[in-house]
Amino acid sequence: MSATVLIVEDEPAIQELVAVNLEHAGFRTRRAASAEEALRLLAHSLPDVVLLDWMLPGQSGLALARRLRAEARTRDLPILFLTARADEPDRIAGLEAGADDYVVKPFSGRELVARIRSVLRRRKPHQGTEPVEIAGLRLDPAAHRVTGHGQPLALGPTEFRLLRFLMTHPNRVYSRKQLLDEVWGDHVFIEERTVDVHIRRLRQALAPSGHDALIETVRGSGYVLRPEPQVAEARPRSE
Ligand code: CA
Repeated sequence: MSATVLIVEDEPAIQELVAVNLEHAGFRTRRAASAEEALRLLAHSLPDVVLLDWMLPGQSGLALARRLRAEARTRDLPILFLTARADEPDRIAGLEAGADDYVVKPFSGRELVARIRSVLRRRKPHQGTEPVEIAGLRLDPAAHRVTGHGQPLALGPTEFRLLRFLMTHPNRVYSRKQLLDEVWGDHVFIEERTVDVHIRRLRQALAPSGHDALIETVRGSGYVLRPEPQVAEARPRSE
């Protein structure tokens, strides 16, 4: 299945060139000439990657990236900046705004395709499609579905990936840093406490079937999923 790239670029010639290169490489493309137009397209459906020009009329690419990162629905969308600016402060601002990578203009079509493929690979670190089941908690990667004792549980995309990683690596304690590397890819620009936020959301999502008890906080170390937690009368919750 080919990945869809949303190209947000206001210069028609560059937009066309990029689209032709990506389509030639087997990607599907959608195009927007402004942040506002991109938001309209994103409201309709999500692409696999956003290729975002830095300088746009109206809202800048940087502002759009921040906005996408701030909203749950688009938080995990890979973003690649297209920028004519190669100087360090801007690159850092772009990465801090949540970009996964950036390509400096002028760039070759081949380089662009390679960068997009690399971002897509990093964002999908665990590609197995076999369902995993632990203590009545079942995660089906192909259907993107989680059930607790047969009851559907609603998880956000990051919580889903986090749970998938923990379920496929039970009984091993992972630090926040390790979880960032494993679950978020080498997206090193997020703070470690982001992991805590998602662990909290994951526990909330698993609470209806009591499976939140599978995820243990190991003080000073990180988190572990234990298939046979000590679910006594008092559930140890160190939050
Ligand atoms: Ca531009």
